[in-house]
Amino acid sequence: MEKKWVYFFDQVKQAKDYVGGKWDDVRALLGGKGANLAEMDRIGVPVPPGFTITTEACNKFIELGEIFPESMWEQTLQGLKKIEFLTGKTFGGSENPLLVSCRSGAKFSMPGMMDTVLNIGLNDLTAKALIKLTDDPRFVYDSYRRLIQMFGVVVMEVDDELFENVITKVRAKVGVETDSEISAEIWEVVIDRFKQIFKSETKLKFPDDPNIQLMLATEAVFKSWNGKRAIDYRNAANIPHDLGTAVNVVTMVFGNMGDTSATGVAMTRNGSTGENQIEGDYLVNAQGEDVVAGIRMTNDISLMQKDSPKAYEEFATIARLLENHYHEMQDLEFTVENGKVWMLQTRDGKRTAQAAVRIAVEMANEGLITKEEAVLRVEPDQIDFFLHPQFKLEATKEAKKSGTFFGKGLNVSPGAASGVIALTADLAKEWSEAEKAVIMVRPETRPDDVHGMLAANGILTSRGGRTSHAALVARQFGKPAVVGLSKMVIQMNKRRIVIGDLIINEGEKISIDGTTGEVYVGEIETTIPDIKDEWLMTILSWADEFRHLGVWANADYPADAKRARSYGAEGIGLCRTEHMFLNPERLPFVQRMIMADLPSDKREAINALLPFQREDFEGIFREMDGLPVIIRLIDPPLHEFLPDRELLVNEMADLKIRLSHADTLDKINRLLQDFNNKEKILKRVEKLHEVNPMLGFRGVRLGISIPELTAMQVRAIFEAACEVSKNGIKVLPKIMIPLTTHCNELKVQRELLEKEAKKVMKEKNLEIDYKFGTMIELPRAALTADQIAQYASFFSFGTNDLTQTTFGVSRDDAEASFLIEYISNKILPANPFATIDKDGVGQLIQMAVAKGRSVKTDLECGICGEHGGDPESIFICQDLGLNYVSCSPFRVPVARLAAAHAVLMKDISE
Ligand code: PEP
Ligand code: MG
Repeated sequence: MEKKWVYFFDQVKQAKDYVGGKWDDVRALLGGKGANLAEMDRIGVPVPPGFTITTEACNKFIELGEIFPESMWEQTLQGLKKIEFLTGKTFGGSENPLLVSCRSGAKFSMPGMMDTVLNIGLNDLTAKALIKLTDDPRFVYDSYRRLIQMFGVVVMEVDDELFENVITKVRAKVGVETDSEISAEIWEVVIDRFKQIFKSETKLKFPDDPNIQLMLATEAVFKSWNGKRAIDYRNAANIPHDLGTAVNVVTMVFGNMGDTSATGVAMTRNGSTGENQIEGDYLVNAQGEDVVAGIRMTNDISLMQKDSPKAYEEFATIARLLENHYHEMQDLEFTVENGKVWMLQTRDGKRTAQAAVRIAVEMANEGLITKEEAVLRVEPDQIDFFLHPQFKLEATKEAKKSGTFFGKGLNVSPGAASGVIALTADLAKEWSEAEKAVIMVRPETRPDDVHGMLAANGILTSRGGRTSHAALVARQFGKPAVVGLSKMVIQMNKRRIVIGDLIINEGEKISIDGTTGEVYVGEIETTIPDIKDEWLMTILSWADEFRHLGVWANADYPADAKRARSYGAEGIGLCRTEHMFLNPERLPFVQRMIMADLPSDKREAINALLPFQREDFEGIFREMDGLPVIIRLIDPPLHEFLPDRELLVNEMADLKIRLSHADTLDKINRLLQDFNNKEKILKRVEKLHEVNPMLGFRGVRLGISIPELTAMQVRAIFEAACEVSKNGIKVLPKIMIPLTTHCNELKVQRELLEKEAKKVMKEKNLEIDYKFGTMIELPRAALTADQIAQYASFFSFGTNDLTQTTFGVSRDDAEASFLIEYISNKILPANPFATIDKDGVGQLIQMAVAKGRSVKTDLECGICGEHGGDPESIFICQDLGLNYVSCSPFRVPVARLAAAHAVLMKDISE
């Protein structure tokens, strides 16, 4: 049987049967747009007659070296015949001519990245017939010039500026602002001019034959799948490159037929805030691309409700119907032709993270979806945006007072960003690669600008609405964006932007607030907001109902613990005690301890650290009242607390010079003393120097060789625990030994530490319920986990070190060198320091958990490396049977959702 390349809109069932029944596969075959047009047709939504040429045809076309596969074109012509039959019109006919659009449509929407040609079928003959029929020469010539322009740009790659310049000049000459004010006579002149441009640029005559027009447009759409901007977009959005695009051939309906016609795009809910209210842009007497491209100033859709209440009501009813049908917020394209509404597209709407959360919660509350679906509708990483920086309130007030408020546009993608202005996408990319924070400023953005948008920290445009290209793309990639700041004039010749007296040159700083739409001259201080959004709280509480993994936090100070708890942490999985030493107040005592020659000096320095540690532990215990706190004893090599060797050598050289110029005895003595001190430190630094310190004198090795230090830390923990428990706080301390290789290390440390713990509890006359455990960070520890478990009541996988030692690469250096190349060349599937290497490191964890639990069935196992906040790693942790993940406080909400996904996704796949 002949291969079927073309599906008419009423053949969605055949498509479903062909792919085996799954809607996702129908979308892959017909593209999202084609599949949804067919589905809308099926459920009775008004869709102009049309058909879809499949993605399989596109892939075959590419495979054959840009040749249509056999019989595809014949099937296309048959499709046209069917449209002719249904509409009573004739393609190329001289009485009632049929016009069609040729639209791209891939499985996943790629807004504006591929090509579309409208008004195919127009030539001098059909134009005349259409004028006779409609008695509206302005509409017909406007449509005709659009065909030549789009066909020229899309199919023949003529520069659009050449066409747009003609229109701009005409508008100025006639003294009008909008295209709809241009008369038929003038459009006729423009058409001649466009044909000349077409000829001079392509060396070909504009094709009169509608079949040739459609054939070349179809080819162009297929080819646009592999256009640069489409490839860039797919790379950024992680869309596979082998899906291909479908082509939709759809009967034209006209929004530019006069004042009872219009065209628009709209979301069934607000894509920025999630509010359950239709939002969108529309234009009377215009065609679709005018709105989508963001080139013309559009009207808010609420105006349509006033201007054409009947059409609006019809549209709003369809919008509700589609949302109920798809159980998802929809992004709609429609045209009103002489008062009749036609739907040209529906797809799941892009939205900000905030909107995604609110929509998911509200849809579940409305009964449109289940709680489980609502939780799965929000990507864990989207939660991150709730923690995005915002401008400090006082700083913005101050900016307003001092006259640096620049203007207010549409707040289309939340978050605050400051950076230098770049007026082109290329410059935005270049400066961002040079590590500058950049705000890309453009009149509007086009698909060609995506590389600049991705590189920039924020986006600002003078034109375009809530559904403009800039808004959609910014939202999708979580970039703060303000669009439609219409008062802003971009003076490209002077490379600057201007509003009234305020001028900002390219390269100077600007601040944009995508949450409020406000723009300021210069840089404004930012702050991280608290997450008290009611919808976020709801979705996270639902996630908590489904997840099995505990979510704990890595926190070193009371303030971190407080934040972690407010974000939902159920314990502290890692308190890196050495971080408490880095405080400038405490560092001198640590250095004194390291420099001490006499044991008494060393003890004195260590004892001086005790109150600091105790105070921090008390603070953390208070914040975590009733929840477990894992405190890890000192881990890093000692040289990390001393000045850098090179710095010391330079300072000493400098002191020598100053000594040779010193002119008083007093100065000489001071400099000499300074020099001697530094020399002493240098000697110690050199003594402690190791070629590979990360694999050297650190972790439990250090603890064993400076037992006074670890004893002090244990004393601080227990003194703090006793102190706060006297105040009614419930403390659950867990002492953790880092970098264990051999069970004997644990044995000796445990003896020492338990002795000290008992001593303190006796002194304080209090019993504290505590646990003693270890980190598993070295392959040997994982391999001998059954031996280690004899001395540990919990394991915490330090996957940072476990990854470095399993791979045999330095965690400090690898990511700056070959590793990135390995990842881009796909030698490694992902960065193992970001996502757990399931096959290697994952296997070690699995083995250690099994061996450990073979000795102690209730052995608690968690993870506290950076991977603890990575959604993909959290999925792996769920599979490995861990009890909890511990991550930075800021990742706690992300981890809560990811842990729920790990359970729910599994339920779906089983
Ligand atoms: C680890 O190695 O994963 C870990 C948490 O410890 P650190 O990063 O402090 O070495
Ligand atoms: Mg470690």
